[in-house]
Amino acid sequence: MSIQIRAVGGFGEVGKNMAAINIDGEVIILDMGLHLPNYIKYTEEALGEIVKLKTEDLIKVGAIPDDRILKDWKNKVKAIIISHGHLDHVGATPYLAMHYPEAPVISTEYTIEFLKTTIQNEKISLPNKIIGVLPNARIRIGKNEIEFINITHSIPQTAIIAIHTKKGIIIYGPDYKLDNEPTLGKKPNYPALENLGEKGVLAIITDSLNADHEGSTPSESRAKELLENVLLGTPNKDKAIIVTTFSSHIARLKTITEIGKKMNRKVVFLGRSLAKYVIAAKNTSITKIDAEIIQYSQKIRKKLKEIEKKGMHKFLIVCTGHQGEPKSVLSKIANNFYGVTLKPDDHVIFSSNVIPTKINQEQRRTLEEKLAKQGAHIFTGVHVSGHCSKEDMKAFIKMTKPENIIPIHSEPQITEKFIQLCEDLGYKKGKNAIIMKNSQTIDIPQIANEPK
Ligand SMILES: [Zn+2]
Repeated sequence: MSIQIRAVGGFGEVGKNMAAINIDGEVIILDMGLHLPNYIKYTEEALGEIVKLKTEDLIKVGAIPDDRILKDWKNKVKAIIISHGHLDHVGATPYLAMHYPEAPVISTEYTIEFLKTTIQNEKISLPNKIIGVLPNARIRIGKNEIEFINITHSIPQTAIIAIHTKKGIIIYGPDYKLDNEPTLGKKPNYPALENLGEKGVLAIITDSLNADHEGSTPSESRAKELLENVLLGTPNKDKAIIVTTFSSHIARLKTITEIGKKMNRKVVFLGRSLAKYVIAAKNTSITKIDAEIIQYSQKIRKKLKEIEKKGMHKFLIVCTGHQGEPKSVLSKIANNFYGVTLKPDDHVIFSSNVIPTKINQEQRRTLEEKLAKQGAHIFTGVHVSGHCSKEDMKAFIKMTKPENIIPIHSEPQITEKFIQLCEDLGYKKGKNAIIMKNSQTIDIPQIANEPK
């Protein structure tokens, strides 16, 4: 029996995640994601948007994985499995899935709802069957079984994918944190993860983004406390308050809405990507967020005028723009695009980190400068990460006891730190702690049985 792993995208880089596993001639594709900075640069669209574009052009500019390297496996693909609904994992599906028309696209219901809305909005038609499953579901694909283990992250229904083969298990867990007090959804399914470790894991392909972060990533409950401190604990009764966060972070958006109610303010969401994710949460019965949602520019302008007239202090505005995206609602407010400006001492709260790319850092600085010029008080970093830190990574490895570890989702310098962590646990770089490059293929049993 042979098992091969081929790195397609997201190895040695952050973004455009995609891998393929060939188990005795049956191929499973894992994720089809966008490279967001390259994608945005190319499309000049605001973060969170997908527009109709040509696949070959997107590959050329590095916005989606180059799946031409799967040519020799093309007719063997049995399923496309998506781990969660972030664009760097699902966003390339509309441009690549048609290369494997016989393979169904399968993910948890929330991810599938988001994908379907995207395909519909952009008038893309895919020949593939699209199937939603519940968290912790197990389905048979050919001779193998796929398990969608519930894990915590920063978007609902994120899964650790376990491929059960006759020879052992392959785990794909590109994005996760170990949150024992999530504010929405269940805590990680530890018994299922431990069960994998007991049955025998051949390899894990795993999140290494924060391998330079000591300790354990705080729970989403901590983000709730931080938001309560800023929103309930500062003098802001007669001030306008604007909060911005990740549109896909439904747990965070729910918390912000609940605090807004406590403050006796009417909560209004402004922006198209916010609407898309919030509506998907409602349609899949994950949660209903009690806020008015306005999507389009003309209506946002009208709403803001109305809010100004009634008194800004009666509302809590939640909008897009946490990375300083020029076309976001917050940037447009800062540019006086809607004819409504902030007054001195109004509050702007960034419930996010700055994704550390040059373009994001520059755009955020520009936005903050403009807001500060209007006299706004700016609160930054009211946020906790959705990714595991060093101690969580160790715990995950100890739970699943893999024979081989393959990091994904980090730049080379951070990948090295992750390998160091593996070595601390007794793994050996190049032998069973393996750095893969995009387009590389490795043979799993060969590495397990005949170390090079
Ligand atoms: Zn993610």
